[in-house]
Amino acid sequence: MPNINTRAHVLVRDCFTCRYCGTRLYLAQVIKILDYYNPERKQWDAHWKAEPLRSNGATVDHIIPEDEGGYDMLDNLVACCVACNSSKGKGQRNLLPQSLDKSWDGGSSIFLTLAPSYRIHLSKEDKKWLKALEKEGMTSDKETFNQE
Ligand SMILES: [Zn+2]
Repeated sequence: MPNINTRAHVLVRDCFTCRYCGTRLYLAQVIKILDYYNPERKQWDAHWKAEPLRSNGATVDHIIPEDEGGYDMLDNLVACCVACNSSKGKGQRNLLPQSLDKSWDGGSSIFLTLAPSYRIHLSKEDKKWLKALEKEGMTSDKETFNQE
């Protein structure tokens, strides 16, 4: 499993879009932080009620599997949804071209905006994701949340 910095780089590079089926991916950390932000989930029902992580959670996949000699190198790693990742191992699959749709960030900007307010709830791993996403040039979305 590539480390968080590598995974963040691959997800940002692929615009949080599955390279096998083209579905938009959701970062697990953003779902978690939205639960703290709005436990009633009123504002987010349309997006989050269907447990997007179950099929559309953001993972990183080895094009050539590790047990077939694939390495944790950037050109062997792609953004992949949970559904495609779990159906893996059935021969070669076609890779979609890299998405160029920068308007979708997997919820990174929401995570970066809300995380400072919920720091007490963040795990070590969450904090590593924060740093990694910032390093990849992701920015917070202050306008949507109107925070200071
Ligand atoms: Zn997929």
